[in-house]
Amino acid sequence: TTPARPLDLLDLDGLHSEEELAIRAVVRQIVDDHVRPHVAEWYERGAVPVRELARELAKVGLLGMHLEGYGCAGASAVAYGLACLELEAGDSGVRSLVSVQGSLAMYAIWKYGSEEQKSEWLPRMAAGDAIGCFGLTEPDHGSDPASMATRARRDGDDWVLSGGKMWITNAPVADVAVVWARTDDGISGFAVPTQTPGFTAREVHHKLSLRASCTGQIFLDEVRLPASAQLPLARGLKAPLSCLTEARYGIVWGALGAARDSLHTAIDYAGAREQFGRPIAGFQLTQAKLADTAVELQKGYLLAVHLGRLADAGKLRPEQVSVGKLNNVREALAIARQCRTILGANGISAEYPVMRHAANLETVLTYEGTSEIHQLVIGQHLTGLAAFA
Ligand code: FAD
Repeated sequence: TTPARPLDLLDLDGLHSEEELAIRAVVRQIVDDHVRPHVAEWYERGAVPVRELARELAKVGLLGMHLEGYGCAGASAVAYGLACLELEAGDSGVRSLVSVQGSLAMYAIWKYGSEEQKSEWLPRMAAGDAIGCFGLTEPDHGSDPASMATRARRDGDDWVLSGGKMWITNAPVADVAVVWARTDDGISGFAVPTQTPGFTAREVHHKLSLRASCTGQIFLDEVRLPASAQLPLARGLKAPLSCLTEARYGIVWGALGAARDSLHTAIDYAGAREQFGRPIAGFQLTQAKLADTAVELQKGYLLAVHLGRLADAGKLRPEQVSVGKLNNVREALAIARQCRTILGANGISAEYPVMRHAANLETVLTYEGTSEIHQLVIGQHLTGLAAFA
């Protein structure tokens, strides 16, 4: 279970309202009850019960938590962030499930969908009865989605989609896929029921990271859809990028959860493990590691709270989210690696969560915009020059 001793050097809990702390406590309990007892086994098997887990998380309103209406909880950005942190303290894969469902698939439909699409999908998705995925990345187009090859062409009133998507979280288990495709009028989004003929999804195997998450490849072979499947308000690449900003915001918080859990584990381990006749926690070199990682964790938390308050004021800009994603994932990975060393050989065992967190954070560093892409976003903001291409 989550260690009782809080890691709150700077009394940062004082930055939160009673309501925010109550939501955090609920999510922490869910992770203790439904994730921690099983996650090492899911990870080793490379299989996670997505549907069961989604229904469990839906019971407390975690799916589409920050959206308003359609059965969604309408929570604040800070409350959503705290939920992401607690989920990722369990495993980045579990937080990914919630991010993809709520911030990518549901958000795309909520923001850009028709009334009919919203009432068809959102209440079921909020309840965990329908799973969504978000297909932007392709085998040959990752950081540069503007050059995507997937096409949607008109045939009478219908749309016909052809192409493929790669590295799509939850694609193999999804009921609806939000698919981005090139049309004669630019990039458009489609809510594709995965039962539609011509749509197939295959699981990606052999992952060494984010193993407690279902990842797939989507094949679109002349998938015929009615006109009503197009997300009517999504015009151009701005639409999927705005969804990514939502999900990246959750990652700013989430990565801190993996880091916190690693640090808690390292502190507990260092207190119990004796070498040279005393606890390794008493060695100055161990304390330097613990102090430096705790300091970075607290700094990342301050950044997350600041961005969350900006989001709740409706003032958060994409390049600010890039600052948070770049810093907090990079530092979380460094923290997890450093904590791993404190556990010695046990650090590489699935008996402890630390190596799992470190391996997961390699994915988190890459998806939702790689570190390099976020550096370029920030660089463009600072210089006015785009260095992407
Ligand atoms: P590439 O774009 O090929 O990049 C390779 C390297 O080149 C990186 O280091 C990158 O930073 C660097 N690079 C690229 N362009 C530049 C440049 N201009 N300047 C400097 N460096 C550059 N995608 C989805 O659409 N939906 C999902 O649900 C989803 N889930 C995922 C789950 C997992 C487990 C993983 C691993 C990925 C997932 N992704 C998903 C895909 C993810 O978003 C992409 O992997 C990511 O955008 C990077 O694309 P790429 O892997 O093709 O790398």
